[in-house]
Amino acid sequence: MASSLTLPLDGGGLGWRCEVRESTVKILLHICCGPCTIYPLRILRGEGHEICGLFYNPNIHPYLEYRRRLDTLTSYAGQEGLTVIRDEIYPLEAFLRQVAFREEERCRYCYQLRLSYAAGIAKKGRFDAFTTTLLYSRYQKHDLIREIAEGVAGTYGIPFLYRDFREGWSEGIRVSKEIGMYRQPYCGCIYSERERYGRNLGKEDGGVKPLCPRDRNRD
Ligand code: SF4
Repeated sequence: MASSLTLPLDGGGLGWRCEVRESTVKILLHICCGPCTIYPLRILRGEGHEICGLFYNPNIHPYLEYRRRLDTLTSYAGQEGLTVIRDEIYPLEAFLRQVAFREEERCRYCYQLRLSYAAGIAKKGRFDAFTTTLLYSRYQKHDLIREIAEGVAGTYGIPFLYRDFREGWSEGIRVSKEIGMYRQPYCGCIYSERERYGRNLGKEDGGVKPLCPRDRNRD
């Protein structure tokens, strides 16, 4: 499995990498949802790391969907004995301000928002590194997530632990179905929800065009 810790060099967005060996490190795992947590948690714990979750996803709309994903994760975390940090508020505005007028590039700003927050919490909480379950999904922009995470690692002065969790895609799906976990049908934001369900809108004009490649594949 590909792996590396990206350690900040000068706080200016540059970094260097070293291979993770056998040492146990305290890792903050940014979590996007329950199903995407299953495989990364198993792998990281299997390596002997101490894991704490962070649920920070103002990109999930509407609020009831946000609650459902959070409740699903909370239930799973309870079963797994995983502590999860979460915001008491639902900062919807933070997401919308990030992407307004640049919706075509919204995923970049969405990742930036969430990963910056995770890096800040990891730094304040004196974690050894942070990573994200976003690296599990085949539908996400994996290379972009890594690029942004490495950038914020430099900015905040906290190592980013990279893993290609996509290797466990099938296993994660299998387990989530076996335990009856809620599996959301769209990425999260109102734009992705429209692209998932609004394909027939304005059909005479060709319908609503997906902005993200991932949403073309969801059926
Ligand atoms: S499609 Fe997903 S990753 Fe992209 S902006 Fe929406 S919620 Fe964020």
